[in-house]
Amino acid sequence: MNEIGVINPKTDPSRIHVLAKPTGSACNLNCSYCFYLKKELLYPGSNFRMSDEVLENYIRQLIESHRSDKVTVAWQGGEPTLMGVDFYRRAIELQEKYRRPGMTFKNTLQTNGILLNDEWCKFFNENDFLIGISIDGPRELHDAHRVDKRGGPTFDRVMKGLRLLQKHRVEYNVLVTINHVNANHPLDVYRFLRDEAGATWMQFIPAIERLTEGSVTMYQQGTTVSDRSVESRQWGSFLIAVFDEWVRRDVGKIFVQTFEAAVRNWVGMGSSGMCVFDPVCGHGLVLEHNGDLYSCDHFVEPPYLLGNILGQHMIDLVGSKRQRKFGRDKFDTLPLSCRQCEVRFACHGECPKNRFLTTPNGEFGLNYLCHGYKAFFQHIDKPAQIMAQLIRSGSPAAQVMQVLDQEYANQAEAFSKVGRNEPCPCGSGLKYKKCHGR
Ligand code: SF4
Ligand code: SF4
Repeated sequence: MNEIGVINPKTDPSRIHVLAKPTGSACNLNCSYCFYLKKELLYPGSNFRMSDEVLENYIRQLIESHRSDKVTVAWQGGEPTLMGVDFYRRAIELQEKYRRPGMTFKNTLQTNGILLNDEWCKFFNENDFLIGISIDGPRELHDAHRVDKRGGPTFDRVMKGLRLLQKHRVEYNVLVTINHVNANHPLDVYRFLRDEAGATWMQFIPAIERLTEGSVTMYQQGTTVSDRSVESRQWGSFLIAVFDEWVRRDVGKIFVQTFEAAVRNWVGMGSSGMCVFDPVCGHGLVLEHNGDLYSCDHFVEPPYLLGNILGQHMIDLVGSKRQRKFGRDKFDTLPLSCRQCEVRFACHGECPKNRFLTTPNGEFGLNYLCHGYKAFFQHIDKPAQIMAQLIRSGSPAAQVMQVLDQEYANQAEAFSKVGRNEPCPCGSGLKYKKCHGR
């Protein structure tokens, strides 16, 4: 059992979050930046299919580990649809078998969309699945890296899957990997997702492939990155450009996970809702196809294997000293430059997997994306403060759009009247001709 022998209501989370990978790293695509394909090396000779024994133990233990009545059952890969729809029918059956009175389930499934058909989408609709579909933007940007086993494009097949989700009224959101190519086209990506893909909830994930002696390995090691990786500067500019469009017209209609988390941290809500922007982490674990439980999706490596759920109950592994230390290390290993940083309350040094730079003082562990995050969080300070104030006063955050419209109108009027050598109305302290008048 865990440290005190039972679930500790004071210290254990009321719910735990596990990403189950029923096909392990097996996938029907070969996206060039995929960090998970390499994980097949962990299980040589495996058929990469979750057995019924592992599935039943997983569902039962997940339910037993929850104090909350709301249970999220998250499926991911690899490509989880390779298991076939009957696997998930069985999962629903087991959820019914072990359900406690009053308990509700939300199944989520992250897919590349290639295998979706009417049967899948009907099943998703009937069982209230939330589907995450991976798409990197319009055709050319998507096909730059999201290719099949023969290196061929996948955009049309993914869009076909997405249209089927729409046809069957399945709830879906989009996951976008921001890499060296699409990072240069923030508004093309955002507008495509909003206007063509009909997404109202978006997740942007930075692609960062660390290299060891010039190669990507299955370990988070190395202090250089591949050419496909997004640059820190690009990541910051991407977020800023999308934020500027969002904050002027889409607040309250379109949900961008990074922006929601940022505003929550500006409000001071206790948790941002994203592990990377919280002071500590460790509540999102990964279950491999054979029952092995790892500390985190980004640390599916032998040193972070907590145990196997066929031998130990999941709650004991989740509550183990090792896992708690893993979570606390996010804070304990912050370099001094993060501890003294003016935007630490929003950034918290982001994810430890990306902390492989050396600070100007020679301390190891600065986040590779630091430059971009600093620029982004500084840029959004004013609108984020306005939204935080609105939320605290019980008003909708969407009112920020009217406040900013009024400010821009006032500023435009002031610009139209100012002389070239007078102070710039924006308050920069520079002459107008050296600032907005340039
Ligand atoms: S290591 Fe990174 S991705 Fe994993 S739980 Fe911690 S912050 Fe989240
Ligand atoms: S912006 Fe940079 S220095 Fe500041 S907390 Fe984030 S990673 Fe650390």
